[in-house]
Amino acid sequence: MRAKAIIFCLLLCEVAVAQELPKTTAETTNYRATSRYEDVMAFIAAIQRVDPDIRVETFATTNEGRALPLVIAGPPGVVDPRSAHATGLPIVFIMANIHAGEVEGKEAAQMLLRDLVSSSRKLRGEMVILIAPIYNADGNERISTEHRTTQNGPPDGVGIRENAQGLDLNRDYMKLESPEARGLIANVRDRWDPLLTVDLHTTDGSFHGYQLTYSPSLNPDAPAEIIDFERDTLLPHIRERMRSDHHKETYYYGNFINQLTPEKGWYTFDSRPRFGNNYVGLRNRFTILSEAYSYIDFRARVDVTYDFLHEILGAVEKYGKKMNRIASRADEQIRRGKLRKLGIRFQIRPWKETEILWERCVPETGEPSKPEFPGETPKHLKRTGEIVPIKMTDFGIFAATEKDDVPYAWLIDAGAKNAIADLRTHGIVVEQLARDTQLEIDQFVIRDEQHAEHAFQNHHELTLTGKWKGRQETFPAGTYVVGIEQALARFAFYLLHPRSDDGLFDWNFFDSMLGEHIAPVRRIMKPVAIDATILR
Ligand SMILES: [Zn+2]
Repeated sequence: MRAKAIIFCLLLCEVAVAQELPKTTAETTNYRATSRYEDVMAFIAAIQRVDPDIRVETFATTNEGRALPLVIAGPPGVVDPRSAHATGLPIVFIMANIHAGEVEGKEAAQMLLRDLVSSSRKLRGEMVILIAPIYNADGNERISTEHRTTQNGPPDGVGIRENAQGLDLNRDYMKLESPEARGLIANVRDRWDPLLTVDLHTTDGSFHGYQLTYSPSLNPDAPAEIIDFERDTLLPHIRERMRSDHHKETYYYGNFINQLTPEKGWYTFDSRPRFGNNYVGLRNRFTILSEAYSYIDFRARVDVTYDFLHEILGAVEKYGKKMNRIASRADEQIRRGKLRKLGIRFQIRPWKETEILWERCVPETGEPSKPEFPGETPKHLKRTGEIVPIKMTDFGIFAATEKDDVPYAWLIDAGAKNAIADLRTHGIVVEQLARDTQLEIDQFVIRDEQHAEHAFQNHHELTLTGKWKGRQETFPAGTYVVGIEQALARFAFYLLHPRSDDGLFDWNFFDSMLGEHIAPVRRIMKPVAIDATILR
């Protein structure tokens, strides 16, 4: 009898222990420290003990051998992309710590995961949520108090921006030189195809009055319906909720061109798809870049990011079906070859006149440094803490300065193995000519090749100038073909156009193939039957 009672108690106690919700490292250290890789893995394991329906996949293995976790929180029965897509529910992907000095996203994402097995469980009946809480795990493990010293905590230090190869993962979306980016694209983007991606960061730069700033896709080649929905509906809705329910001010990401003369304008950052938010837009999907404000303390940054995540999921509850329809429509239009012209080079433009919350600063002593670009942290200034709305131009959008026609298909020389590997990792359908074939094509005759003077991410980026010239040519069997009637055609155009500001020519994929001053990528303008087989 007594033995039975003990066993009974053991069972009960075990259940009680198993159901205890874990705490994050930030919480257990009273916000002195951020989680290490092992802490995150232990947190996820504890969540799975509470709710065995939570699944975990490895989407990449880092240079130092760390398995990167992708947590899947959906309705029971959602175990893989097929079962997720079969539900018809929106799929939301939350990624944190791409820059491992910017750590509050990692903490907030874990807190959100905990809610998804407790207080916010019902959200899992309305969407599938994927969480990659520690994308740049190798950078995270280099925690030191010497990093990001202008950021307000955590006092025990943070990791570094780059991965173990020294690469910035938020500049690696096109060239895919890191195992992290290749895994992210192949195993999250291509496999799960999330409708909305949320990428969590921390600002540098200007002193303003927002606890968090955000950005949609900035490249105008993204489908207009997606850009418009983000700017007209999704982000204004979330901003309003942040204000009404959390009393927190948020706005579009930007920086004053000069902290002392704010009326000169508020500038967003870049339109190139090497940045994740722009990359996702070119793939016909929604995206929100989140930037917690560097100068509020660590706990406040975790809190605002956590509230922002909840409001994003609230917006998906409200608009998810509509967003799914918009994304499918964008895919369908492209598959039917409805693209005509796309941009290849872009410039920042004024978007609107508006009031922006500025923090009044005064010169300390000597000359204040003039920022070389908006985004640099201003130096030799004294902050006053006084927040003032100032009327100014928001330079928040980009427009194409150069456009070109979208061809029926691209032809790529058989020797371009690295380029083909990159295209295929991105999920682009590549075919090969089954036999020698004579075709009407345009070739790009190169007039000038300019390599950037300064290396960026170990590359001297290439800018080509030249002209398309029509001719007939016979291409050998094995020549690669990328047809434009596929959902990723918009994105394939960006990668393959010889003058693209962020394509494979720019990133030196074809440098060794430019000897004859003819770009090794041709275009076919008119629909034509081609005998080709799909590469599997
Ligand atoms: Zn960042």
